Amino acid sequence: LSLPETKKTGNRVTVLVRVRPISKKEKEAGSRCCVRIVNPRDVYLTDLVNPNDYLRLNRIRGRHFTFDACFPDSATQQEVYSTSTSELVEGVLQGRNGTVFCYGATGAGKTYTMIGTLESPGVMVLAIKDLFDKIKTRSCDGNHVVHLSYLEVYNETIKDLISPGRPLVLREDKQGNVAAGLTQYRVYSVDEVMTLLQQGNHNRTTEPTRANETSSRSHAVLQVVVEYQVRDAAMNIINNVGKLSLVDLAGSERALATNRRTLRSLEGANINRSLLALSSCINALVEGKKHIPYRNSKLTQLLKDSLGGKCRTVMIANISSSNLSSGETQNTLHWADRAK
Ligand code: ADP
Ligand code: MG
Repeated sequence: LSLPETKKTGNRVTVLVRVRPISKKEKEAGSRCCVRIVNPRDVYLTDLVNPNDYLRLNRIRGRHFTFDACFPDSATQQEVYSTSTSELVEGVLQGRNGTVFCYGATGAGKTYTMIGTLESPGVMVLAIKDLFDKIKTRSCDGNHVVHLSYLEVYNETIKDLISPGRPLVLREDKQGNVAAGLTQYRVYSVDEVMTLLQQGNHNRTTEPTRANETSSRSHAVLQVVVEYQVRDAAMNIINNVGKLSLVDLAGSERALATNRRTLRSLEGANINRSLLALSSCINALVEGKKHIPYRNSKLTQLLKDSLGGKCRTVMIANISSSNLSSGETQNTLHWADRAK
């Protein structure tokens, strides 16, 4: 599968759906499968357990959704990586920026998709591996410098996940908005990356009431920056920079009923501002609006130079196949449908 070409009006966001298998626990609780991948692009919801939510969303479009690709629960990490991210890695080596998000309810498989396990590494690890492989095949491979940073946006504060300390402040410079003091870790090989990511993930904020459990309200952002030099026709040296952002978003479940309220009315409410602001930016981009409201949250400020324009944006909507999560699945699919 290859990603479709950019549309002429508005920005094209590539939207993919990944279904995760029913877990042992869900099986024991008597769950059954409530989604069907009809073909590589279409997904069908067999249950509508939450008709009230459905009506409240006021967007009845049936139970049938079409996306750029749908991955069944048997899809491998490599398949998901190849379809979602490998073209973006290619773009980074041509000096372009790209972003991949994982969106979905807590437990739907976002972190599995992004980080994965030692045996089945996810998109973040496979992207860096692919990047190094691609650099090696280039004649000027000694030229490339790869830096990696990993941060969290939690409750509108930014934390360095590689060397956690005090909250970081956003500063605007010619490269866009950067978190001042964020560790830029120079990577030489892919071997060190998995450990780094797992440690970083360990540093993510935990919910005060549920020690050791990663907060469902934390966004984790990995940014890989590749710098290299090329010579133009006149043999002048040109510096090229490309950036890939890979984002494990906060759980979408809390944003459910809030779709149609404005950001302002949500202030004070316990709602994830960055997640809502991201939705607004994506909808504005897709609709081809001139003004993109990047300034509404830390996450969107951070990603300003990596969303829209010439950047490639990919959204992976993670859903569970269990009927116990059908309400969340329904909401995730509706949200993803709007991002197209
Ligand atoms: P999230 O980050 O969205 O909250 P996780 O990625 O932590 O969800 O996934 C929840 C559980 O389901 C984890 O135990 C994870 O290992 C498992 N899981 C998720 N996706 C898959 C998959 N595609 N294949 C196998 N196990 C998965
Ligand atoms: Mg997670």
